[in-house]
Amino acid sequence: MNEPVIAVIGGGASGTLAAAHLAASGRPMRLLMVEPGQVGRGIAYATSDHRHRLNVPAGRMSAWADDPEHFVRWLRGHRHPCATAATYAARADYGSYLADVLRTVSQLPQVRLTVLAARAVALAEHHEGLLLSPPATGPSPRPANGSRVRAPPARSGSTPERSPTSMSGTTTPWSASPTAPHSGPAR
Ligand SMILES: Cc1cc2nc3c(=O)[nH]c(=O)nc-3n(C[C@H](O)[C@H](O)[C@H](O)COP(=O)(O)OP(=O)(O)OC[C@H]3O[C@@H](n4cnc5c(N)ncnc54)[C@H](O)[C@@H]3O)c2cc1C
Repeated sequence: MNEPVIAVIGGGASGTLAAAHLAASGRPMRLLMVEPGQVGRGIAYATSDHRHRLNVPAGRMSAWADDPEHFVRWLRGHRHPCATAATYAARADYGSYLADVLRTVSQLPQVRLTVLAARAVALAEHHEGLLLSPPATGPSPRPANGSRVRAPPARSGSTPERSPTSMSGTTTPWSASPTAPHSGPAR
């Protein structure tokens, strides 16, 4: 049986969390994230100024509803050993946390994640499914290499049945490969 292919357009907080929860579902799948910037940042968490703080305490910012201390533990392990659920963390740190969450679950063996560093501009019906068109960076409205990502038909409430046939231009937004073998706990 072919694994479903799911495209997430935009890798801000919403897209990153959606992709992470899909990946953590335990089902085999191919995930395609289309994001021109860094995964997990979006508008709110792209700042590098650590005076820019979350307006919600860390104990209410976990990626996992069933593990409300998850972000607090991450903060303690990666940034602030003394962080508590009441800490107002830097927004930049939250962006790093979101990227780390997705990176971790994408290492599950049943998940294949590809991040396409591009901006999606069109989605059109195609005889093989849906044709997702990201442009190349620069002024050209079309990719210089003519790349297109073909995804199967996606209907509301259903999953696609066929794989993309082309994903040229992909890049890795993290130092570790998102498709590296699983080497630790899912979270
Ligand atoms: C200054 C500021 C501070 C905030 N602080 C907090 C806070 O402390 N706590 C809190 O809970 N919420 C905060 N928010 C709200 C926050 O924005 C949302 O919680 C959340 O980050 C929104 O994420 P998003 O992914 O929906 O949107 P965005 O963050 O806007 O992300 C959208 C992403 O989609 C990408 N994108 C757009 N178009 C395309 C395209 N055509 N193809 C591919 N990719 C595309 C963009 O590059 C971007 O990465 C804040 C918002 C702002 C503006």
